[in-house]
Amino acid sequence: MNFLIPLQVKKAIQILNDNGFEAYIVGGCVRDFLLNLTPSDFDITTSALPEEILSTFSDYKTIETGLKHGTVTVVIESMHLEITTYRVDGEYKNNRHPDEVFFTRNLKEDLKRRDFTVNAMAYHPQEGLIDCFNGQDDLRNKIIRCVGEPEKRFTEDALRILRAMRFASVLGFNVEEKTFDAACKLKQLINNISSERINSELNKLLLGESCLEILNNFKEIIFEFIPELKPLDGFSQNNIFHIYDMYMHTLVSVASCPENIILRLTMLFHDIGKPDTYTEDENGIGHCYGHAKISEEKARIILRRLKYDNHTISTVTTLIRYHDADIALTEKAVKRWLNKTGEENFRLLLEVKRADTRALSEHIIEERLKYFDEILLILKKINEENQCFSLKDLAVNGKDVIEKTGSKGAETGIILKMLLNKVMENELENDVTSLLNYAKTIDLSRLL
Ligand code: ATP
Ligand code: MG
Repeated sequence: MNFLIPLQVKKAIQILNDNGFEAYIVGGCVRDFLLNLTPSDFDITTSALPEEILSTFSDYKTIETGLKHGTVTVVIESMHLEITTYRVDGEYKNNRHPDEVFFTRNLKEDLKRRDFTVNAMAYHPQEGLIDCFNGQDDLRNKIIRCVGEPEKRFTEDALRILRAMRFASVLGFNVEEKTFDAACKLKQLINNISSERINSELNKLLLGESCLEILNNFKEIIFEFIPELKPLDGFSQNNIFHIYDMYMHTLVSVASCPENIILRLTMLFHDIGKPDTYTEDENGIGHCYGHAKISEEKARIILRRLKYDNHTISTVTTLIRYHDADIALTEKAVKRWLNKTGEENFRLLLEVKRADTRALSEHIIEERLKYFDEILLILKKINEENQCFSLKDLAVNGKDVIEKTGSKGAETGIILKMLLNKVMENELENDVTSLLNYAKTIDLSRLL
């Protein structure tokens, strides 16, 4: 076992040891090393009390990050290192935060308060791995297991329920049976977790390699904080295009799109309006006319509740609004779409449509995917030929139009839009003379 620990981290450990304290790297970085992944950050745990950390590093810049919880940030050669005193958590309040924490000089006590066995290992460059709860075995067997009694650990801090799901999704692990049972049993405690924390765990979960399995196996927990998804579960679509029920279709589409959170959220909510709009025709075939609009409205409410930022909300809801719309295979049609959504969102919309397609019946997938390839070819041609599809690309602006036609107020905007339409329909060249000559022929008295 030879971990590539940054020199600054080794130095911090050495300095603490030289001053008579124990010190180890701990938690996520040890787990990531053992998985041959590059750790994103390094946490150091030590027997030194916060004041002792401060005095040990008196020659260095230190920041009192969370002194009450025992954390000091030390800057060594421009690297910010979080050093935390071995700690035992006191009574938990509200299923989230310990009321108080106690410091200890015993490493095992500190490892014991950590959430999962794979996150409860420490490592020292000379001593090697400290693994009191068989974390290494669980890593090898790809298992997420609580340290100690799962029910107790989830009751202390219900965020751990979502963390278990997130780690299982990201690492492609299974959740050990007792841990799983306790998570399901205590799912209502999720209601005590802040929306911001749910948001950040949900994002990581959705981007994980096993998101489909986790969203399915833990659906009862997902429905606890997104109850709007529950009606999709087991709802048959009764339509030859579909082989899955609405919930499974949703999950397959989530897992079928690129690892981009905007796309994954869009897929998670794109059909959420289907149960409300479901009808059967005289042949018993299911339809959900107008579901995109209901999905959009519900998604907006959910995303606001989960405190997503405005850009995410507006992009996701736009993509949901159009996810089921037809895009004709013509330059004119594609330009109209580009005008409506902008190129970036149009490309995302194509990804949404691809993911939606991959979650349909086998027999139509290939043909539909080819269709989207053709749309991309049209888009490429439009770009290569620098074809105009927005007002900013038009060869004339409002000032030109006013000068030429004498238009006033809202008239100018209407004329510009008319010119743009003519250009997008290939009925007018995008050059100043043809545009302004045409503008001159417009009868202003009939505009407003
Ligand atoms: P990543 O940083 O990749 O999300 P991580 O395991 O480093 O994963 P952090 O949130 O950075 O996760 O936490 C660092 C360590 O602190 C964890 O590995 C775990 O040992 C402990 N920990 C974090 N959150 C909790 C919690 N809610 N309950 C118990 N221990 C926790
Ligand atoms: Mg971390």
